[in-house]
Amino acid sequence: MPSSEELHKRRTAAVARGVGSVVPSYVDSASGGTLRDVDGREWIDFASGIAVTSVGNSAPRVVEAVREQAGRFTHTCFMVAPYESYVAVCEQLIALTPGRFDKRAALFNSGAEAVENAVKIARHATGRQAVVVFDHAYHGRTNLTMALTAKVMPYKHRFGPFAPEIYRVPMSYPLRDGGLSGPDAAIRAIDVIEKQVGGANVAAVVIEPIQGEGGFVVPAPGFLPAIAAWAKGAGAVLVADEIQTGFCRTGAWFASEHEGVEPDLVTTAKGMGGGLPIAGVAGRAELMDAVHAGGLGGTYGGNPLACVAALAAVETMRELDLAAAARGIEARMLPVLRGFAERDPGVAEARGRGAMLAIELVKPGGIEPDAARTATVAKACHDAGLLVLTCGTYGNVLRFLPPLVIGEREVDRGLEILRESLLGA
Ligand SMILES: *Cc1c(COP(=O)(O)O)cnc(C)c1O
Repeated sequence: MPSSEELHKRRTAAVARGVGSVVPSYVDSASGGTLRDVDGREWIDFASGIAVTSVGNSAPRVVEAVREQAGRFTHTCFMVAPYESYVAVCEQLIALTPGRFDKRAALFNSGAEAVENAVKIARHATGRQAVVVFDHAYHGRTNLTMALTAKVMPYKHRFGPFAPEIYRVPMSYPLRDGGLSGPDAAIRAIDVIEKQVGGANVAAVVIEPIQGEGGFVVPAPGFLPAIAAWAKGAGAVLVADEIQTGFCRTGAWFASEHEGVEPDLVTTAKGMGGGLPIAGVAGRAELMDAVHAGGLGGTYGGNPLACVAALAAVETMRELDLAAAARGIEARMLPVLRGFAERDPGVAEARGRGAMLAIELVKPGGIEPDAARTATVAKACHDAGLLVLTCGTYGNVLRFLPPLVIGEREVDRGLEILRESLLGA
C-alpha cells in the first residue's frame, strides 16, 4: 500500500488545491472511535467526518443494508421509478422531527441542497422572498447557501455575486454579547428584522439551534423560542437547520427539542446517513405540499443505497439509544473541558450539548480570539494521534464531535492528549 507521503504527492498533482484536508494522513480503515492510516498509525476520532459517523464507521447494520441493496438495484431515480426505502426514510423523518402536526418530507444529497430546498419551499408557500439568517451562521457552499453563510474565508472569498434577499441579524452568543439574555438577544435580532426587512416580507428565518462551523455557539435560553414565536406571528417559515445537530448528536433526536421549539421545516443531513450521502427536508404538510408536482427533486436525491443506510442508522440509534450515549459523552467530557477553562486563562469557555462540545480560546485577560494558539493545539493533538477540528468565525474554537458509539477509553485518552496539547501550547 502506498504511504501517506506518496499519496500526498499524487494528490498534489491530481486534486485541486481548493479542496483541503485537516491532516496529511491517508485513511486505511476506521471503526467506532478510531481511524487507522495507511502508515499504520491509529487516531482517536473526535471528528466523525464532521458529525457524520454518529453510528460509527462501517456500522454493522449500515454495511449489511448497503451490501444487500447494492445486489438488488443501485439507482432508478425516485422521480422515474420509485421504491420503498425512500418512502420509509420520509416516514422516519416525519416521525422523528419535532412538531405534532401533519408533515411531509423530501430527500436530497447534501446539507446545502436541503437548505436550498427549504428556502425554495418557504418562498413558494408564502409568496415572499426575504430570508433571515444570523451572524456566524453556516448553511453550505452552493451559491444560495454561500449567501446564507456568514464567514468569508474560506467559504465566500471571490465567489460572488451572491443571491439577493438575504438579511443577516445578530445571534445570541453569550460569551461575546455581554451575557445578553436569550429573550433580550431575540429582541435585538427582531428589531433589525422589523426595521430593515419588514415581517410581512420574510419568507423564512433559517437558524441552527446550536451553530456548527460558526463556533458551536449555544444561544442563551429563551432565544430560540422567542425567534420561533416572532416567526409564527409574522407568518414567516421557521427553518431549523439541524444538519449538524440532528440525529442524536446533542442528546436528543433534534436540538430544537431542548427548548421545546417546533420548527415549520427541519433540514437534515450529516449523521442521518450513517456515512452515506443523504439529506432531507421535513415539515408542515401545507408548506411542503404547496409546491407544484415536479417542483422538487434531483437525479440522485434519496438514492436507494443512501436510503437503506439511513434506515439502518436510525435503527442503530434506536437500538443502542445513541441519544443517551451522547448525553453520556457530555457527562464524561464537559466537566473535564470546564476544568481546562478554570485552570487555563486562555480557555474562555467550555460549551455544547451532548457529543457536540467545544472550548473557545482567547488571549488571557479578555475575550480577544486566539486563532494562532487554537491552530497550534489542534496540530499538537493531530501529532499525538487525536483527530480534532477547529471552527468559529474567529478560528479560535476547538470542537469535539466523537462518534456516539465511541468507547470510554478513547474518550479519556483523547481528553488526556488534549490536556497535554493545551499545556504545551
Ligand atoms: C455541514 C452543514 C451544512 C452543509 O452540508 P453539506 O452536506 O456539506 O452541504 C449546512 N448546515 C449546517 C448546519 C451544517 O453543519
